[in-house]
Amino acid sequence: MSVIYERVALIGLGLIASSMAHAMRRAGLAGHVAGHARSAGTRATAQRLGIVDSVHDRAAEAVAGADLVVLAVPVGAMGAIAAEIGPALTPGATVTDVGSVKQSVIDAVAPHLPAGVHFIPGHPIAGTEQSGPEAGFASLFDNRWWLLTPLPDTDVGALSRLGALCQGMGATVDCMDAAHHDLVLAVTSHAPHLIAYTMVGVADDLRRVTDSEVIKYSAAGFRDFTRIAASDPVMWRDVFLTNKEATLEILGRFTEELFALQRAIRTGDGDMLHDYFTRTRAIRRGIIEAGQDTDAPDFGRVRTP
Ligand code: NAP
Repeated sequence: MSVIYERVALIGLGLIASSMAHAMRRAGLAGHVAGHARSAGTRATAQRLGIVDSVHDRAAEAVAGADLVVLAVPVGAMGAIAAEIGPALTPGATVTDVGSVKQSVIDAVAPHLPAGVHFIPGHPIAGTEQSGPEAGFASLFDNRWWLLTPLPDTDVGALSRLGALCQGMGATVDCMDAAHHDLVLAVTSHAPHLIAYTMVGVADDLRRVTDSEVIKYSAAGFRDFTRIAASDPVMWRDVFLTNKEATLEILGRFTEELFALQRAIRTGDGDMLHDYFTRTRAIRRGIIEAGQDTDAPDFGRVRTP
């Protein structure tokens, strides 16, 4: 594949940014990749691992001359970064982000970007519970969706160029508006994470009663919850604070369903439980058939180096 952007600036050098650096290098999509992270420790790690071609102490320095800037920091930090880099952006450059929530990022970032810069928000539907520059790997985006939420006046050429980059990194691109994105992700990602956090919290309380049995006899259901509940606390705090309405809407529906199931258990309504679980099993099959997971016991999550 050929170079799509001459100079890419990655702001934030965690799981997503470092995976992008690896994936761009794998396919030769960028001429030069510059990087910036907040802490000296993360910058030193990125330098030592050779993830990017140059590491910069200041975000504004990293974006100078870049034709693509990627904001890959927690959602709550996007606005301040945009304010810092705005004056240093090159006319005609594209700015995108990888935040898990879209409308709040648009509200926080767009006001700081000068005219002549294309802002195309995005979100790769790919990740792990790991964070930091060492967690990244080139195949993270392979066969995953990369959702773009272009604004009404988005330049078509800039959009298709960014789409080509995402495809070059292995992803399949889809476009939707930000509000729709935030509702869909509240169902598929945000509410499930909150439920996992809650379940692990309940088990932790119980552990004080049952001593260490919760850990010792941890079965697959609980183990899967703990994997999700090990996700980065800052990232997820910001997701819930910024996708408040959609998450609360889905959690309201979740609570109603939970009560219905609770009632079925209490009244011994086996037919209701059986029908419900048959319906949910079909959804799992659909996800596997769509290539978004495997039916291996470890769900294909154990990576070979
Ligand atoms: P991560 O591994 O925790 O990395 C975050 C990076 O942002 C670090 O390099 C960190 O630098 C930097 N950073 C944090 N606060 C900053 C600030 N105030 N100013 C400048 N830099 C700052 O996070 P990630 O998993 O890559 O997530 C990055 C973004 O991708 C988030 O918006 C998240 O919502 C989104 N996302 C995550 C996933 C996932 O599964 N993890 C999936 C899709 C999208 P230091 O290390 O120096 O603090």
